[in-house]
Amino acid sequence: MIIAVDGSAASGKGTLAKRLASHYDLAHLDTGALYRALGLALLRRGLGPDIVGEEEAAGHVPDLDLSLTESADIRTDEVAAMASVVAALPAVRQNFLSLQRDFASNPPHGRGAVLDGRDIGSVILPDAPFKFFIDADLEIRADRRTRELQGKGQSVMFRDVFEDMRIRDERDRGRSTAPLCAAADAVAIDTSSMDADAVFTMALSHIETGPGSK
Ligand code: C5P
Repeated sequence: MIIAVDGSAASGKGTLAKRLASHYDLAHLDTGALYRALGLALLRRGLGPDIVGEEEAAGHVPDLDLSLTESADIRTDEVAAMASVVAALPAVRQNFLSLQRDFASNPPHGRGAVLDGRDIGSVILPDAPFKFFIDADLEIRADRRTRELQGKGQSVMFRDVFEDMRIRDERDRGRSTAPLCAAADAVAIDTSSMDADAVFTMALSHIETGPGSK
């Protein structure tokens, strides 16, 4: 079983992907963590968003320390912004392609895979039988992210998180390579007024009764 979950920042796509993985015994890949890990590795080398070149950024992908994807250090707005800058570079996306497809075709454990990101259903796994596109109002997403970061001890303010998220959304939706958009055959869920349980229940019912289940 292969499930693609795409969506905007703090839409609830990661939570949904984790719950689906646990429910169906699937391996889970948070592909945003790959771009964040690259962003952090570049920042640590002193390469900021304005100075990193495409070939240079892409050149770091093959040797990227994947343990960074588990690090709390990638969960900051600074790293998110850097991730979205390098994610717009075609050579970077190309260098992450086979890792993601290999994960889906040969999951490290379980009975299949769920990948979450921005372009899983549209580019990485266009033939995935189950695809979801998760979104919510910007204000609500920014509020969720502010609380999440504050809960982790980061001193952030709503208006800064809102502005960072607005810029990142614009960049992710507006880039020419693999922009954030719903695949034509994805099930769209607006989570603005839904909690995680309701989103999970809705996704499950699509999986159990939708066309991909046959
Ligand atoms: O999902 P998350 O917010 O952690 O992703 C961080 C950034 O990585 C996104 O803003 C986006 O620019 C990039 N990304 C992407 N394609 C993916 C996953 C993430 O471009 N499949």
